[in-house]
Amino acid sequence: MHEELRAICEAGVERIVTIAVSPDNLSTVLDLCDGHENIWGTQGIHPHEASSWNTSVAQAVARGAAHHKVVAIGEIGLDYYYEHASPKAQTEAFEAQLALAAELDLPVVIHTREADADTRAVLENHARHLKKKGVIHSFTSSQSLADFCLSEGFCLGFNGICTFKNADNVRAVIDATPIDKIVLETDAPYLTPVPFRGRVNSPRFLPLIAAQIAEIKNMPVEALLRAVRRNSMALFFADP
Ligand SMILES: [Zn+2]
Repeated sequence: MHEELRAICEAGVERIVTIAVSPDNLSTVLDLCDGHENIWGTQGIHPHEASSWNTSVAQAVARGAAHHKVVAIGEIGLDYYYEHASPKAQTEAFEAQLALAAELDLPVVIHTREADADTRAVLENHARHLKKKGVIHSFTSSQSLADFCLSEGFCLGFNGICTFKNADNVRAVIDATPIDKIVLETDAPYLTPVPFRGRVNSPRFLPLIAAQIAEIKNMPVEALLRAVRRNSMALFFADP
């Protein structure tokens, strides 16, 4: 086994869902799924890449989503912080991929940054068509967007940001999120948790994120891990 994968397994991670973001990496994700028994994947176009969205990319996402180890459409959404693509292009790609997820009966992995109002508006139109809902990943938005997403049945994904000194807002959202709606993530290679900031991130650091969330929730880390494992399995694998 690859050395990094071994370290990840030794940290207690059983399954990895690796995330597609661009037309170029759709097949990379599928190759990882094919090459490793504990890797699953998503297919989707990130808002940063939304200007690449067209009919042939849409077909590639749909084709890739038929792979037996693809467990979600993502990541998709809106990012007005970087605004690498126009809000109009981002919205088109987001809505088209939400429709695809509904058609394929897959959950979604949503990225939203500084786009609370428009993310909410899009989900108000589309969330009801998604039987399996999904996760708002790397959640750093407002409590009111969190409340809305939770009321629509989505989970919230938290990563190394919750260990950062300046992330009191994220810790407050975690505190207010029911334990059965939390999933852990890395967002690797970015957002490495304290005390390893500066290193490349990896699922091997998930125990640090679990420890922080258990502290916020004032519960034993083992109980937190049991809960988030159950949540992830229900979200992506339907058969815990
Ligand atoms: Zn993201």
